[in-house]
Amino acid sequence: MVYDLELISVGKTYSDGTVAVSDFDLKVEKGEFVAFLGPSGCGKSTTLRMIAGFEDITNGEVMMMGRNVTHVPPEKRPTSMIFQNYALFPHMSVRENVAFGLDVKGTPKAERDRKVDRILDMFDLEPFADRKADKLSGGQRQRIALARGLVVEPEILLLDEPLGALDANLRRIIQNELKLLQRELGITFVFVTHAQSEALGLSDRVVVMSNGVVEQISPPRELYRRPATPFVADFIGSNTVFEGTPKGTAGSGFGQIDTPYGIMTGLGQGNETLAVVPAEAFRIVPMGTPNEILLHGTLAERQLVGAVGHLKIRLPGDRDIAVEVSADRPEVRTLTPGAPVTLGVDPASVTLIHA
Ligand code: ADP
Repeated sequence: MVYDLELISVGKTYSDGTVAVSDFDLKVEKGEFVAFLGPSGCGKSTTLRMIAGFEDITNGEVMMMGRNVTHVPPEKRPTSMIFQNYALFPHMSVRENVAFGLDVKGTPKAERDRKVDRILDMFDLEPFADRKADKLSGGQRQRIALARGLVVEPEILLLDEPLGALDANLRRIIQNELKLLQRELGITFVFVTHAQSEALGLSDRVVVMSNGVVEQISPPRELYRRPATPFVADFIGSNTVFEGTPKGTAGSGFGQIDTPYGIMTGLGQGNETLAVVPAEAFRIVPMGTPNEILLHGTLAERQLVGAVGHLKIRLPGDRDIAVEVSADRPEVRTLTPGAPVTLGVDPASVTLIHA
């Protein structure tokens, strides 16, 4: 199988000794939308710049469409990059900004004008074509940046926090446009963001990074349902992590951990030491419900937000855990602070991981 993009054990150490990225492995198929997600400084932009060719690679190789491009300069790679601040030339017109990439490539004038006209039309930018880029709104500038990136017909579009400068409303609108555009064009998108909702809402797969290493590469739903590391369990969604000692297997892919709150059964090999329970996996159940992990506590806090009840349940030893239940259920509405609560968890929604 030939991938659009393949990173093979890619690493970057800056000249001052900062190890920004280590052993990054990734295979991206044609037309995939992949997001790099992680806290500031975890190495997302460095990785994107190495893919673009703006940053030298210390170790490893970058392949595009089966070709080794590790030492190929940016303008000879089948990529285009969109920057957070758009990097538009403020005193050039919209048309000149969009034409820039084609001019760099030495595209003949007639072909250049045809391509620029087509892309300006596609992004509804024609009415502003002759205006200076700095005389336009944030959303319009964002479109110019996209048009400029796409006019050179890249195989892979690289986007570095492209929505970071927009307000929340515009962000949502442009997120939708971006997703539609990507489907329509069928080109590969690699997108860098520190905003969880953006990564989870837009991409086919998310690469979660911390401290220069890849923690997990999974479709968004899988990150929620099956976090692979303690970092992901903490970073994505709202999970409770119970520590314990391994108790071996419980059959068919399930393992068990002995915790201060009882035996936890979950998906795993039985040699892990942590059990991860998503907040929405808890249910309020009558005492003695079978086939569930049972936890006993008291209601510490309750907040009803629309259809969701956000509860804080206090377990023995003053351990407070986050629980999300349907706000419509009568047992949720009638609970008063301090009331005893039995929580049930289906073991199938628990993931066992290594510390
Ligand atoms: P992110 O995009 O996830 O915020 P970066 O890739 O920008 O992270 O940075 C990763 C690490 O590399 C950080 O520790 C950052 O300080 C460091 N770094 C980034 N650029 C340079 C540089 N030019 N020289 C030295 N260190 C750098």
